[in-house]
Formats: sequence, structure tokens, C-alpha cells
Amino acid sequence: TTAIRGSLRETEIGRSRNTDKADRATVEQALDPRTRMVLFRMLNRGVFNDVNGCISTGKEANVYHATKSDGSELAIKVYKTSVLEITVLDMATVVTIPRKMVKTWAEKEQRNLKRYWLYTCFIGRLHAAGIRCPAVILLRLHVLVMEFIGRDGWAAPRLKDAALSLDKLRECYLELIIQMRVLYQKCKLVHGDLSEYNILYFEGHLYIIDVSQSVDLDHPLALNFLREDCDHVSDFFKKHGVAVMTIPELFDFIVD
Ligand code: ATP
Ligand code: MN
Repeated sequence: TTAIRGSLRETEIGRSRNTDKADRATVEQALDPRTRMVLFRMLNRGVFNDVNGCISTGKEANVYHATKSDGSELAIKVYKTSVLEITVLDMATVVTIPRKMVKTWAEKEQRNLKRYWLYTCFIGRLHAAGIRCPAVILLRLHVLVMEFIGRDGWAAPRLKDAALSLDKLRECYLELIIQMRVLYQKCKLVHGDLSEYNILYFEGHLYIIDVSQSVDLDHPLALNFLREDCDHVSDFFKKHGVAVMTIPELFDFIVD
């Protein structure tokens, strides 16, 4: 595990290009059998040709870089299935697992799969509304294949890491608050985890990612989440010297 960690650390900010053999081996080791099976089937169907390396390792998911035979690039978000691994392990050691526990696992898996499916629906809504975000290509179990935001194996930096000039940041702020309004008005969604960590900067524009916390407007806490999104976005731009709206102004701009 330490070897895997070590090799991934330098790629954590999603900037490193890793296509060498050693890295590929670590990627393969890090994948559980079910994930490998899903990826293998996708490979056979020609969804992609190669999984090259890890762009990001998170608490809930890892993101990998993949290439198609025509050289075009993809991002693969693999949700962690640690709970399921335990099931497989226990079965291998022929330990009797209480029926109740298996049921709990099965239910948890169903809930998670539904969440991943919802994720792709939400991303689809953003995409359809013209908000820049990675288009979904395919979802199979807990493996989500999407458009890669970046070029030549280099993932676009997060807004947090983009090191932009004040002028550029001003433009980004405007672009972002308009996208937040479209997200609310057209997609009828609140992102729920919007911050400089879940926005990528690519070719002069912002790309919104990671809608795992997003909710429909009829969610009882939707407006609280929106308020938090406004806080995080304002904090970031204010910290970097952009003259931002007050929170109530921003909130009204989005909702009204
Ligand atoms: P969780 O869903 O549990 O919050 P997470 O925060 O790790 O997981 P994301 O924010 O979706 O997941 O992705 C993690 C990182 O992977 C991003 O910060 C970004 O650097 C990279 N990344 C994700 N999707 C893409 C993509 N389509 N193209 C390029 N890079 C991506
Ligand atoms: Mn994220």
C-alpha cells in the first residue's frame, strides 16, 4: 500500500502525466476484482484502449486517465467498494455470514448504485443546459466513464491550483455566478459541494465537476446548500482580491 501511495502522491494534484509501465502496474494492483472485471469488459467493447494512471485518489472515489485507440482521452471515476470487498473476502475464507449482514450490504450497494446513477443524470442536466462539465459516456455499476478535461494526459488544474491573474479571476467569478444561476434556474439543481476544489480551469473556462452532493430544488435543505455554495465561492474569490457581491446579493441573483 505504501508503494501505491508513494507513486500516487505526486499525481494527486492531477498534473503529472503517468503512462510508464510501473505506474500502470500500481493502478492494476489498486483495483479490486470487480472493478477490474468492469474495466476489462469496457476494454473489450472498445470503450477505451488503455488505463494509464491515476489522476486523483479520494475518500469515495479514484479517478483514472484512459485513452481510446484514436488517441482521444477519457476520465474514469471509480467509486470505492470496500464494503463489497469484505463480502468477497469472507466468502473466500468460507466464513458464514449472517443473512442480515448480507442484506445490509446488498441494500447499501443498491443505494450507492442509485447515487452513481443519479450523479450521471445530474451531470447530464448540467451538460444539456450548456454548463461546462465533463460529458458522461458510460456508467457501469460503480465505474463512470466521462470526458477528460485536460490534454495530453495532463488533467486541467482545479481552480484552487490554477494560479490565475486578478483580471482572469474576475472573469471566472462572473462566469461562475452565471453558471450557478443556470444550474438553479434551468437544471433545477443545487451543487451542494461547489468550491475551488470541484471546479477545473481549462482553456480559459471553468468546468464544474463532482455533483455527488447535488440535490433537486425540492430537497428540504436545497437553499441551505445553495447558501453554503455561495459562501465558499465568495470566500475563494474574495481571498484572491476580487470584489465580490455580498452573500444575500449573490443568493438573490441566483434565485430571483
Ligand atoms: P467524491 O465524489 O467522493 O467527492 P472526489 O472529490 O475525489 O470524490 P471528483 O472531485 O469528481 O471526486 O474528482 C477528483 C479529482 O479528479 C478532481 O479534483 C480532478 O482533479 C480530477 N477529475 C475528476 N474528473 C475529471 C475529468 N473529467 N477530467 C479531468 N480530471 C478530472
Ligand atoms: Mn471533488
